[in-house]
Amino acid sequence: MTSESSAPHTLPHWVGNEPWRGSAARTGEVVDPATGRRRLHVHLAEPADVDAAVEAARAAFPGWRETSLTRRTQVLFRFRELLAERKGELAEIITAEHGKVLDDALGEISRGLEVVEFACGLGHLLKGEMTDNASTGVDVHSLRQPLGPVAVVSPFNFPAMVPMWFFPLAIAAGNTVVLKPSEKDPSAANWLAELWAEAGLPPGVFNVLHGEGDAVDGLLRHSAVKAVSFVGSTPIARHVYETATAHGKRVQALGGAKNHMLVLPDADLDQAADAAVNAGFGSAGERCMAVSALVAIDSVADELVDRVREKVGGLRVGDGRRGTDMGPLVTGEHRDRVADYVRAGVAEGAELVVDGREVTPEGSGEGFWLGPTLFDHVTPEMSVYTDEIFGPVLSVLRVSSYEEALELINANPYGNGVALFTNDGRTARHFQREVEVGMVGINVPIPVPVAYYSFGGWKASLFGDTHAYGTEGVHFFTRGKAVTTRWPEPEQQQVGLGFPQNT
Ligand code: NAD
Repeated sequence: MTSESSAPHTLPHWVGNEPWRGSAARTGEVVDPATGRRRLHVHLAEPADVDAAVEAARAAFPGWRETSLTRRTQVLFRFRELLAERKGELAEIITAEHGKVLDDALGEISRGLEVVEFACGLGHLLKGEMTDNASTGVDVHSLRQPLGPVAVVSPFNFPAMVPMWFFPLAIAAGNTVVLKPSEKDPSAANWLAELWAEAGLPPGVFNVLHGEGDAVDGLLRHSAVKAVSFVGSTPIARHVYETATAHGKRVQALGGAKNHMLVLPDADLDQAADAAVNAGFGSAGERCMAVSALVAIDSVADELVDRVREKVGGLRVGDGRRGTDMGPLVTGEHRDRVADYVRAGVAEGAELVVDGREVTPEGSGEGFWLGPTLFDHVTPEMSVYTDEIFGPVLSVLRVSSYEEALELINANPYGNGVALFTNDGRTARHFQREVEVGMVGINVPIPVPVAYYSFGGWKASLFGDTHAYGTEGVHFFTRGKAVTTRWPEPEQQQVGLGFPQNT
């Protein structure tokens, strides 16, 4: 990595609607992955900074919770309008720190916007129920109320969309938020925080705390934090779930993935190959819904591999600001780790059909490059299959039948997304009912649910009971209360120690 000649600025936390340096004891470096150059430093929180950010959220909670639903929703609408107007600025920040191409960055923002739009209509979902005269002279109704300060901890790969899976609903429901974004691409969080302030959100309702694992641990243990929404790798998701639940918090912790795409012989192979390339190499494979295992029935495997190879040959790899198809990996360390998996695949006997290590990128040679890589004849014990690589490496596994494919997919410890390509409706129906995966696409390679459904995997891809956004998200950020009411006539008062019965 080379550093810029002028001193880069240091990104502050954001607390109480303004930039905040905190203890300023430690900083990290944020690097542009397409050039390898340092963009800026970022402050990393110490325990006192965690306390201060949570205190701001705690202090803002009573006022925000008492703010009427109408007023809260008006702020959300303004935030939505500003974001839609200025999303280009945010996309540039994402590309400069994550590396994904500009179009892809805009796509991530659009999916986050969908959740903001869903949250604008939250009034409908916060309605309670009411039963008149449930018992004689007794009415019952239910309420949904906010929890308090909540923590959102997000990964590097969607610096805008993943936080937006959570904070629009949390805020609309009357909670206050401390967001701890990835330290690798932290600037998007501050940009969003400024937008909230411009939209009229009161100070302390949305705060950004930068830091590493110790800052997260501080949030997980803090008595004022009532709930934690986490997205990241499976080992950390498990740690977050175990630690935060042990400290009495409500937790949804979304983890890693190994997503399969199964192609049956009756599928349109050209469309399937396009889908495999898009889902395997979009965002350099750094998506939790990326397809990394392409499962082909023997009879069509040769043809499918040929078509995928041909299409991969047409991809332009390079700086995402130059209209390329695929950008760099997020850090040099991560690029090297992915390259190690490619070496391991060769050593374990997989057939290397396209070697991304030989790529010539458009742009700076100092970036963290690794081109699309295609393996054929991968078997289930090979590390390119067993591990989540989180890079542009697509492994083809050959099976003899649909049943063998289903068994393979269900035996995998992850269960985030899966896709089936076929023209056979009966098999598709069987598949969607039998596959042990949380999000299923039928002829759809990346089945990220729309905002009014909920996002979440099964097995090692999610710890906790509640998926993100949609109605499950609304439930996560609120708790229910049932109120039983009676207005007795004076002559009806009497002492009675028996258990109340409905009459
Ligand atoms: P990561 O687990 O390294 O980091 C995620 C967050 O946890 C970051 O904010 C990080 O600072 C924090 N963290 C890191 N170490 C920690 C520790 N020891 N204790 C507490 N917190 C810690 O993940 P990443 O590399 O940023 O993101 C990629 C991973 O995220 C992949 O595994 C991917 O599959 C997963 N992901 C999953 C989904 C999903 O919906 N299931 C979505 C996006 C990404």
